[in-house]
Amino acid sequence: MDELERLKLERLIGELKSKRGRGTELVTIYIPAGRPIADVLNTLWYEYSTASNIKDRTTRHHVLDALSAIINRLKLFRKTPPNGLVIFAGYIAGDVPGREKMEIHLIEPPERLKIWLYRCDSRFHTEILEDMIRIREAYGLIVLDRNEAAFGILKGKSLEVVEEITSGIPGKHRAGGQSARRFERIIEQLAHEFYKRIGEYANKIFLEIPELKGIIVGGPGPSKYEFVKGDYLHYTLKEKILGVFDVGYSGESGIYELTERAKDLLKDVQYIREKEVVNEFLYNLARDTGLAIYGEEEVRRALEMGAVRILLLSENLKKIRVFFQCKMCQYEGRKSIIEDQVNDLKCPKCKSEVEIIDKKMLIEELANLAEMSGTEVVLVSNETSEGRELYKTFGGIAAILRYRISRT
Ligand code: ZN
Repeated sequence: MDELERLKLERLIGELKSKRGRGTELVTIYIPAGRPIADVLNTLWYEYSTASNIKDRTTRHHVLDALSAIINRLKLFRKTPPNGLVIFAGYIAGDVPGREKMEIHLIEPPERLKIWLYRCDSRFHTEILEDMIRIREAYGLIVLDRNEAAFGILKGKSLEVVEEITSGIPGKHRAGGQSARRFERIIEQLAHEFYKRIGEYANKIFLEIPELKGIIVGGPGPSKYEFVKGDYLHYTLKEKILGVFDVGYSGESGIYELTERAKDLLKDVQYIREKEVVNEFLYNLARDTGLAIYGEEEVRRALEMGAVRILLLSENLKKIRVFFQCKMCQYEGRKSIIEDQVNDLKCPKCKSEVEIIDKKMLIEELANLAEMSGTEVVLVSNETSEGRELYKTFGGIAAILRYRISRT
């Protein structure tokens, strides 16, 4: 998923999360990928008839209204979108009782949805979507010794143990009649064969994951080093090895232990790009190269000139960009403000009321501007000290220029 799309979805989920119903009347539906719309409609008709029995009159009306709104929208779909569909609908409680407002949101999830969920509650159930957007990348995990190996995939918080295999290599006791050296050679050969098999499994599992950011290897003994040193993994996977860790177990429990061990490492990797970019910005600023600028106005001007190489935007930026027109003198203008100020916006010329013609997240507007001149956009999270500094000290908007431009 595009970073900007992710951020937009994150904001929407944040809003949905804070909404409440007067009673248990907000409907959440998760439709898994591949489920025919006709099946979904049947289920919803059934829920509709069940909801007719709700005792509280207002709640009943509200749930039925929400369900028919959903059904009407679903009828427009010829089939379920490729990743499934998430629906939130219901009357949102406001400050004044009896003035609840009906809202309906249909969201195509960024990943394949595997479960069906139908909930009527006083809130929307956004957790599954939240988990999905937290996932920025995937990591492959391999735990091995000479007896067994296990493969896992770590995506966000979810860890899946995909496969476990065993070698069948006999223990330390050799069968009678064989010389110790010959026995050792056989064992070495068997281990080599087993590493080859591990490599084949790893290639099959991990090469298919486009968002794979790295591989972490672990195990109780020296086998993991033999495996990493040898040519068992596909070269593109081998390049992605981030670390090798000692863990007490092999097999599935080893995978869990490895995840624990690798936590700090993973955290660093996830934010490596944004740390690099912020540091490059700070470097240029400290050396006074003239290539580091910050603040919305100055950055916007440079973007319009096509002079920006990298645009840095803090995910923390809450402002929106509005395009308005004066209702009296027809003056048209643009302004960056926080959402709450929209209603107080007045015409700068005649102080009359204005009509909002268009509004966007400021981040999105600047990113679009950057795209037009082929500028790289880096969304900087608040998870690193570099990211927090960008927001606190520089207002969350900064740029590294292609060439120096004159100051205004
Ligand atoms: Zn005016």
